[in-house]
Amino acid sequence: MSQWDMNNDIERVLYSEDDIAEAAKRVGTELAADYEGRTPVIISVLKGAVLWTVDVMRYMQYAEVEFIDVSSYHGGIASSGEVDLIVDLQTDIAGRDVIIMEDIVDTGRSLKFMMALLEQRGAKSIKVASLLDKKEGRVVDANVDYVGFDVPKAFVVGYGLDYKQLYRNLPYVGVLKQAVYDPEHA
Ligand code: 5GP
Repeated sequence: MSQWDMNNDIERVLYSEDDIAEAAKRVGTELAADYEGRTPVIISVLKGAVLWTVDVMRYMQYAEVEFIDVSSYHGGIASSGEVDLIVDLQTDIAGRDVIIMEDIVDTGRSLKFMMALLEQRGAKSIKVASLLDKKEGRVVDANVDYVGFDVPKAFVVGYGLDYKQLYRNLPYVGVLKQAVYDPEHA
């Protein structure tokens, strides 16, 4: 292993590639059963939920996929409290069953913002499937219907989740070493 290796920046692995594959199968199979006979619109939240979305949707039947990007982090490790719509949907979701696919729900602000937007646009039903649920981080009401894993309150990266746009391509989810974002711990 060379020094120039992303794995060196990880303190510990929380969910392995196999754990995640199992969770995607479990959630995808459950969604397939719950939406049988309907064609939901999956709304994948850029960029973090992309890997989770493609892995989960393989287990589903008829489903459309759309992308949205909202931002509350602005590149750091703490939520800024403000949510902006960065990339909008390319389709009308009025009267549709929608499933929001998130990488992680932390404070719940991003999710609350998206739920309000989709409700305002007339979605028939809205459910949420998140790879990770950081329940301890919640500051606003936001419920996750389908959960991959309940994650402890730590800053995690991998399998879609980034720090300054890096680590998304790790196959697992792990805790980032503090030294990576805090020079005092280097
Ligand atoms: P919320 O609005 O619920 O506070 O935050 C949701 C968004 O914040 C997620 O979609 C994700 O982009 C980011 N986020 C929250 N916790 C973490 C974390 O532990 N690691 C990373 N990489 N992003 C996080």
